[in-house]
Amino acid sequence: MKKSIRIAALILALILCAGLFTGCAKGRKVGPYRVEQNDIRNTEIYPYIVRTPHATWYLAQADIDLLGEETFYRELGEVLTEQEADFADAIDALKDYLSGDIPTVEIWTDFAGRTENGKAAYFGAYCIWDMDLIYVYHDFQYAKSNLLHEYVHYLTHKCCSFKLNTDFWSESIAEYISEFVCYNRLSHSVLTEELREMYRQYGLTDANGEPEKRKVYYAWAAQARAGELIGMQYLSVDQRDMTLTEAQVRNPGIGALTYFEACCFFEWLIGRYGEAFVYSHMAIGPERFEEVFGKDFNTLFSEWTADNDAWCAENLKMPEGAGD
Ligand SMILES: [Zn+2]
Repeated sequence: MKKSIRIAALILALILCAGLFTGCAKGRKVGPYRVEQNDIRNTEIYPYIVRTPHATWYLAQADIDLLGEETFYRELGEVLTEQEADFADAIDALKDYLSGDIPTVEIWTDFAGRTENGKAAYFGAYCIWDMDLIYVYHDFQYAKSNLLHEYVHYLTHKCCSFKLNTDFWSESIAEYISEFVCYNRLSHSVLTEELREMYRQYGLTDANGEPEKRKVYYAWAAQARAGELIGMQYLSVDQRDMTLTEAQVRNPGIGALTYFEACCFFEWLIGRYGEAFVYSHMAIGPERFEEVFGKDFNTLFSEWTADNDAWCAENLKMPEGAGD
């Protein structure tokens, strides 16, 4: 009898505790935003949401438990502040191709037990544009490295007037807008001091001494094209695990490009043909380059390589391994 009373009391205490924890998180402030009870969907795994002007974050209880409540909300707060400014910059960069209000994007935390699985093994964030949402993997620091890139995917695939039809165009514009056009506070904030020092040493910095992604990408792409990075493993723009080979350097396939090269080449195309022209011709495959741009992909890519080499030789000290 006594034992069953103790068990009943224990169960009651656990239920009350669970209620208290629920009460603690709901209503909590994260920066200027408030944690709300999720009554939209998937409420068991994601009991809370946070709404900002640009996004609705769905917060998994398992992820809160994984990081600990204090760390989870402190780091989420850091992301939200930078995210709002970065997302606004991306919208501004694409304003000529957007119309009406931009729907808020859903961002779902998916840290717990996901680091070995599929896309989650590679990316800090991943946009599934068919579902209008972005997953963030690993932890908030990891997610900062490519959250803006994924948001640009959301904008370009869901909200813009132009059409994209290959991985090359999709990744090129996402990288170009998020790393070249926008300052990208989120990705800058996770650069290690070691990398910052290396970029400073080789002059890959802006007037304030901050790493300048454009210079970093130019330098890295020049090295890859010069064959100095043969054997390097990388993820291609068409999402394959690749190893850079001599054959690839001589004859690069458009889908096998690194993100760095695709971004630089895309910027160069805009410089030559104009933004509006390039943006309105991103629904073509490489076989139609000659028809649209007057020259085939290999010819244009070789011309960009020569221009990039010349720019780097004149303006940079050409670091070794700047993109590692
Ligand atoms: Zn991407």
